[in-house]
Amino acid sequence: MQQVLVADNISKSFTTGTTVHHALKNVCLSVNKGEIVMLMGPSGSGKTTLLSIMGGILSPSSGEISIAGQSMTGVSSTKKGQLRLQHIGFIFQEYNLFPSLSALQNVQVALALRGESGKRARDEAATHLQSVGLGDKLDNHPSKLSGGQKQRLAIARALAGNPTLMLADEPTAALDSENGTIIMNLLKKLAREHNRAVVIVTHDNRIIDFADRILRIEDGHLIGPSDSTMNPLARPSQGARSPSGGDKA
Ligand code: ADP
Ligand code: MG
Repeated sequence: MQQVLVADNISKSFTTGTTVHHALKNVCLSVNKGEIVMLMGPSGSGKTTLLSIMGGILSPSSGEISIAGQSMTGVSSTKKGQLRLQHIGFIFQEYNLFPSLSALQNVQVALALRGESGKRARDEAATHLQSVGLGDKLDNHPSKLSGGQKQRLAIARALAGNPTLMLADEPTAALDSENGTIIMNLLKKLAREHNRAVVIVTHDNRIIDFADRILRIEDGHLIGPSDSTMNPLARPSQGARSPSGGDKA
């Protein structure tokens, strides 16, 4: 199955006092294995809300969402939590690391949530840190890491769950171009070599070349076709898919 995530007619409203705000309006999209999708749009357009719904952190007000063929709507919160642990990795602009834990321990926490502990978990955490180039920083606390290194640690932690779908909210916004490119190359490797799906919310025009598809959102509406909008800027060498796509589908 090529489709990792399917969102069908998702709407989301927030009620504050007597005011109802419609943050997402009838959003339909799907995300396939091996592709990098960027979600772009003005501030307040609903990007983070959509990403949170894709990751099972927020529930939609209406519509259905499924991950790896399993519905995340209308299931118990326990089931939803299991699907999230099994399939989804999150990366945030602000890293969201545990400041009092070392780099190694930050990754081990993610493994512990999945029932892994002891030497095996330690070795696995170290392997993930090596894969993002932090093999010599295992004992560093986040305060002893640069911004780019912190984001790489956040990626290592997200990789610990072996996610089918990696979701990233403005992962390069706080970084200089060089570090932004390092982060994007790690995410590209995840998509291409490990055939995972990557969805990135971004304002960052410096990284747009990495997108196979760009989805635009405005005022809660996804603009344009959601499944065949190719990135006109993506270079073929960066693996842009042919519009017919899906020869394995
Ligand atoms: P973006 O990430 O594109 O900047 P968001 O998804 O964070 O936008 O927000 C979309 C809209 O929904 C905004 O108008 C925001 O104020 C509103 N919103 C988001 N979360 C909440 C919430 N928990 N309660 C009320 N309104 C919210
Ligand atoms: Mg946001």
